[in-house]
Amino acid sequence: MPHVAFIGLGRMGHGMAGRYLDSGFTLAVWNRSRAKADDPIARGARWAASPADAARDADAIVTMVADDDASRAVWTGKDGIIETARKGALAIECSTVSHRHAVDMARDLTTRGLRYIDCPVTGLPDAAASGKLTLLVGAEADDLEAARPFLAPLGATIRHFGTVGAGTVFKLINNLMGAVQIASLAEGLRIAEQAGLDMPLVQQSLASGAVASPQVVRHSARMVARDFAGASFTAALRHKDASYAMALADNLGLDLAVARAALDIYARATAEIPDEDEGRLIDLIRATPTN
Ligand code: NAP
Repeated sequence: MPHVAFIGLGRMGHGMAGRYLDSGFTLAVWNRSRAKADDPIARGARWAASPADAARDADAIVTMVADDDASRAVWTGKDGIIETARKGALAIECSTVSHRHAVDMARDLTTRGLRYIDCPVTGLPDAAASGKLTLLVGAEADDLEAARPFLAPLGATIRHFGTVGAGTVFKLINNLMGAVQIASLAEGLRIAEQAGLDMPLVQQSLASGAVASPQVVRHSARMVARDFAGASFTAALRHKDASYAMALADNLGLDLAVARAALDIYARATAEIPDEDEGRLIDLIRATPTN
């Protein structure tokens, strides 16, 4: 059976690693904090002492960590994957990283004989655990073909945007637009509250009207109910994605006013509530004094 090394067992990675076990792969796992590996180990995964140890003999190495720094640490840092990965192994980066990082990492890992694919995903942790993620790929066509058996457990929808880095470009656009939508929703709800509207009616109308994106449907219900329980994407991760998107836009010579405003408000959220659900942004807006 093909051998996968899976690095990063956070909210998303835990479920994704489980999909390789569900699908009968031989799996080695590593996470910075060991306790999150208890469940995959109980299900038959090998605990690796380091990313380098996990990558030994792997046909594919899949990473799902927080950001550029975490990605750099596990691929090329001390005891990193690159120390043991065999030539020709697939390097599949599922973390949302910056475009610059994806391109630089691809160059470094390809020089050392790996086949790099950027493969950020959309979908919440429940989609990760049930193999229903959408995979946003940047890769050479033959590398993607070689990677398909290792992507199949994660999700059936694979969107190939172009060469390495292209999947990340799309992911950053997607998540920047998500930041704008959620910030705008929070401000719209704040106006409605201040004006004394019937909030359940407002929520129902937003969720069935012309602005009813999946983001608005999901977050309007949570914001109006003031209930942020369950699967979450944190304020810090949303801010990270929006800042990577803005760095990409800057590199392309674009000045984006709406996106910059959303980035500012997520910077505030990250300073005050980094590990809370991103929808709690509305609490900051509620706490802003009126004129
Ligand atoms: P998370 O629960 O916060 O997990 C982050 C993971 O990164 C953990 O395994 C953490 O290890 C590891 N990590 C952080 N800094 C590290 C470092 N310096 N060295 C090594 N490992 C490090 O985040 P998540 O929600 O699973 O998100 C993971 C990635 O998926 C992010 O890039 C995020 O943007 C993306 N994403 C998330 C969602 C979502 O709905 N949550 C959806 C799509 C994409 P510890 O356990 O030791 O802290």
